[in-house]
Amino acid sequence: MSPNAADRVPLGCPDRVVSIIDGRPVAVSRDGRDLPVVYPASGETISLLREADEAEVSSAVAAARAAFDQGPWSRMDVNQRKDILYAIRDRLRGHAEELAHLEVLNTGIPISHVQGQVQRMTRNFEFFAEVASTLSGETYTQTSGYLTYVTREPKGVAALISPWNAPLALSSMRIAACIAFGNTCVLKPSEYTPVAVARMVELMHECGLPPGVVNLVNGRGAVTGAALVAHPGIDMVGFTGGTATGRAIMQAAGAKLKPCILELGGKSASIIDCGADLDRALDGALLGIFSNNGQQCLAGSRILVHRAVAERFIARFVERTRNLRIGDPMDPGTEIGPLAYEAHLERVLSYVDVARADGARLLVGGRRVEEARPGYYMQPTAVLAPSNGTRVCQEEIFGPFATFLLYDSLDEAIRIANDSPFGLVCYLWSGDLQAAMRVSRDVRAGTVWINTPMMRELRAPFGGFKQSGVGRDGASSSAEFFTELKTTTIPVDPPALRRLGRDDRE
Ligand code: NAD
Repeated sequence: MSPNAADRVPLGCPDRVVSIIDGRPVAVSRDGRDLPVVYPASGETISLLREADEAEVSSAVAAARAAFDQGPWSRMDVNQRKDILYAIRDRLRGHAEELAHLEVLNTGIPISHVQGQVQRMTRNFEFFAEVASTLSGETYTQTSGYLTYVTREPKGVAALISPWNAPLALSSMRIAACIAFGNTCVLKPSEYTPVAVARMVELMHECGLPPGVVNLVNGRGAVTGAALVAHPGIDMVGFTGGTATGRAIMQAAGAKLKPCILELGGKSASIIDCGADLDRALDGALLGIFSNNGQQCLAGSRILVHRAVAERFIARFVERTRNLRIGDPMDPGTEIGPLAYEAHLERVLSYVDVARADGARLLVGGRRVEEARPGYYMQPTAVLAPSNGTRVCQEEIFGPFATFLLYDSLDEAIRIANDSPFGLVCYLWSGDLQAAMRVSRDVRAGTVWINTPMMRELRAPFGGFKQSGVGRDGASSSAEFFTELKTTTIPVDPPALRRLGRDDRE
């Protein structure tokens, strides 16, 4: 590897990341709490995050409430809102390089991957502008003499909470979906990766977004996040993150009956059928687990290989894994960067011992990249598990850690794929149409990808079965979540009314 990441100067990174409330950065008071923001490739502190306490969260919610309750955003002509969303897209596009640099600096994800995510960030704004501008209602005329129509209205103020593994792409998707329909929000990104997101929110205010529509607070989940979810001014919660956190958030929100959309963890199967194009299946399996440094909810982290092709397939996978270019995430040639933060690296590494204790065989990797210390690099790792009941098959590891399992029939592969608390996605590599149809029908997962690595069709619903989530993102699914339905009934001619309480009744 080329561990020269520590030599890079963190150009353009702000000294401090603060909340943005009502369109303005919040001045730093002397008695607040600062958290270090770190470049994972070097372990160096690149900025300080000022944690928002309950009072600051309250001001952010108040700003979002005012922008919603008094307008103009919630009542704005949709075409005008659309123009602002397009202006945001253009502004962010103009700063794509800067945003990508900040994102790499804070996440350690290789620049080649982050560039794709930055593109997705800009697309989110145009996409939801279009969805909102074509939203329509329903009418009912079946009951004679009456017209009943159903309209969609913005729902209110959202708490949006996002994780560290794809900060720009995921935060922008929820913001765009939320505000396109006329809602306002308070975003709390991960305390580990606030830098690029804060710049994105700043840029959004430079192109006509009214103050208070998008507010930003920063801090740890248990402090800032929990205060936000519990705040009485919040009408709904959009959360992306771990399953345990999702459960806590839904409980807190449920106490006040706030609707939630939760995109959570996964332990998805990547099924390699014996009749698959094995070259492509190999490329796909590698991408499925090692993209984004392996830190993906939709990783194909359980690779199920048909026994007839397993020996050769796994040997080639191991050879390619050894060959992966680990290094400076700013280098366009880098394929694997450091993990997001040190405690996370330790957690992922701990699964090597868990695997051994489970009777799994280490095939490749399994160690920290010592020569890259203090950067948080881990060797890409693969193990062969003796059964799907092992912890490395049941728990989300969320790092460059592949677990292989062998199977003998498609029925068995489907059974294994489904034997999981999660149900986010499933990959199948096969030349057999019937196998594809069966996997599509029988695997209990929100998305099935046949002969392709991750391909996120924004128009289609995305979300998880079982403990991988509640609700879906997508064109109509986001419209469902971020709007309320209102039914209005008007008689065409004045109907005869019973006249209660009159003396002249017959
Ligand atoms: P996490 O659950 O630790 O944190 C996510 C966010 O929630 C952070 O902003 C955190 O500060 C906040 N948070 C934590 N506790 C909170 C509380 N009590 N109240 C309010 N907010 C709180 O997750 P993470 O480690 O940041 O991200 C990794 C996880 O995210 C993985 O499990 C991954 O699978 C999942 N994820 C899912 C999707 C999806 O679309 N399904 C996408 C990306 C990541």
